[in-house]
Parts: sequence; C-alpha cells; structure tokens
Amino acid sequence: MKPFDFIQPQTTDAALAALAEHSPNVRILNGGTDYVVELKHVAQSPGVVVDISRLQDLKGIEITDAGLRIGAGVTHSEIMADPLIAEHAPAMIDAAHTVGAVQTRNLGTLGGNLVTCVPSMDSGPTLLALDAQVTILGPKGSRQIPLSEFFVFVRKTALEPDELLLEIIIPKENLGKPAGFIKFGLRKGQALALVNAASAFRIEDGKFKDVRIALGAVAPVVIRAAKAEAILEGQAVSEDLINEAAKIAVTEASPIDDFRASKEYRNDLIEVGARRTMQAALAAANA
Ligand SMILES: Cc1cc2nc3c(=O)[nH]c(=O)nc-3n(C[C@H](O)[C@H](O)[C@H](O)COP(=O)(O)OP(=O)(O)OC[C@H]3O[C@@H](n4cnc5c(N)ncnc54)[C@H](O)[C@@H]3O)c2cc1C
Repeated sequence: MKPFDFIQPQTTDAALAALAEHSPNVRILNGGTDYVVELKHVAQSPGVVVDISRLQDLKGIEITDAGLRIGAGVTHSEIMADPLIAEHAPAMIDAAHTVGAVQTRNLGTLGGNLVTCVPSMDSGPTLLALDAQVTILGPKGSRQIPLSEFFVFVRKTALEPDELLLEIIIPKENLGKPAGFIKFGLRKGQALALVNAASAFRIEDGKFKDVRIALGAVAPVVIRAAKAEAILEGQAVSEDLINEAAKIAVTEASPIDDFRASKEYRNDLIEVGARRTMQAALAAANA
C-alpha cells in the first residue's frame, strides 16, 4: 500500500470541500470492502482518501414524496433488515443477501456497490428493474439521473472525482411493483455472480405492463433486455411468452468466456435466470 493522506469529515459539506480541494488526486472510502483491496495493489498513491462513512446525509431508508429513499451509505445488512424495503422492494433483500458473507454485508454499502461498477454487482439488476434514480452531490449542487445512465463502463460511472453519490431512489409508482432477483455463482455463498438477473412488471387486466428485465455479469455494465421486455409488454399473461422472452434475453447479452464459466454456460444461465425472475415477479403479482 502506498502512503496517502486521510480525511474523515463529519459533514457532507466538509466532504465536498475536501473532494473539491484535492480533486482529481482524491478517492472516496466508505465501507472499504472494495476500495481497501484496490488500495493494497495500487502502484501510485491515490493522494488523499476521504472517508465518508460518518456522513449522516448518506444514511437512512425512508419514504419521501419521490418514493423510497435509500442513503448511499446504507449497508447490505441494513437493507436486509429494513421493514420499508421488505414492504416496498423485497427483491432488494434477496439481492443484498447474496453479497459476500455477513462481514462484507455489515461493512459494504449500497453506494459503494454501485460506484465500483463491476458487471457482477449484485444490487444493480433489481434497482435497474425498478427504474431507480440516483442523486449525485458535487461543487455545483445536486443532480439526479437514472441509474441506467450512472453506469458508463466497467469501473466507470457518471461521477466526477469531486462528486459523491448521496442516495438511491425507487420512484413511488414502483413501490410494491412485483419483482424477482436471482444470482448464479460457482458456490452458494462468497461467490461473484456468473450471471445475475432481476425482472419486474405489473399485471393489469390480465396483461403484462411496465416490463423490466435486467441482467448482470453479461456485458460491461448491468443491462436491460429491451427486446425481451417488448415480447411481454401489453400481452396477455402466459408462461409460453415468459419462456420466449427468456430466450430473447440471451440474444441481448454478450457474456465473457473465462476460467470460471464458458460463454455457452453463461448463456444458459441468462435464459434460466430471466425465466425464473419473470416467474417470481408473476408469483408476486398473483400473491
Ligand atoms: C470478500 C468479498 C466478497 C464480496 N462479495 C460480493 C458479492 O457477492 N457481490 C457484490 O456485488 N459485491 C461483492 N463484494 C464487493 C463489495 O463488498 C461491495 O461492492 C460493497 O457494496 C462495496 O461497498 P463499500 O462501502 O465497501 O465500498 P468502498 O470499498 O468503500 O468503495 C468502493 C468504491 O466506491 C466508491 N464509493 C463508495 N461510496 C461512494 C459514494 N457514496 N460516493 C462516491 N463514491 C463512493 C469508492 O471511492 C470506491 O471506488 C465483495 C467484496 C469482498 C471483499
């Protein structure tokens, strides 16, 4: 690990001031479950590390006029135990449950997971399927963008070096939207996703509405399977259509072929994952 300066601000304003002062030679630290690993291997010092784990503005889960607000500093364990998430976005709990082991979930934050922006992140698909928005704070104030625009490329988000992720918002029209999440790894626990997936839709007058199918670990960033979504949208509910949409989802992905799994195997997982999450969303809609 190379030497660096360490700042632990107590307020968001102080954190933003530190980021502005030291940008671009500055990095944010929250739970540290990703970044400390990276820090150990860097060839050059990051300059200044700003620890944002004390910032109260990044904590808490609450209902606001906009929807369900989850602070970027909320941990995966807090998500798993939260009654509002259980009521309004239970698929997020299924996703949080699959992140690492209990120690990682106790320290690792939702914001850190999204900002790391690896294709296999486990919180991305469900949030994408629920049309989540993110609020970014920087020297010019705050801006809100869809999560789909936040993901730019592998380990690259829409954040500038002097900005931080404040919160994630699931819009109020999507609270309680039936959804399902699944993750496939080489083991049941402590394994990165070979493929993960989430689906969400409403059933109105016996037809699929507002269909979302999101896939992780199959492209540089978490993606929506738009053609598969279109197969279902506005159509009468049927298992056959779900099966067809799952097959189409495979054509929208470009999974890698590596030592952990072949491309062919990952394609099989995409079809199974898309199908099972659509079936889970249907079961939730019928419940
Ligand atoms: C053993 C182990 C197992 C793991 N298993 C999984 C797994 O199964 N699934 C999975 O998805 N992940 C897994 N991870 C990765 C990691 O735990 C998660 O991504 C976690 O949510 C990261 O959160 P953090 O608070 O620890 O982020 P940190 O390590 O503190 O930061 C990660 C990155 O995000 C930036 N950052 C953090 N918060 C903010 C913010 N609010 N605004 C701007 N930038 C910010 C940091 O600068 C850094 O670049 C695992 C990690 C370990 C060590």
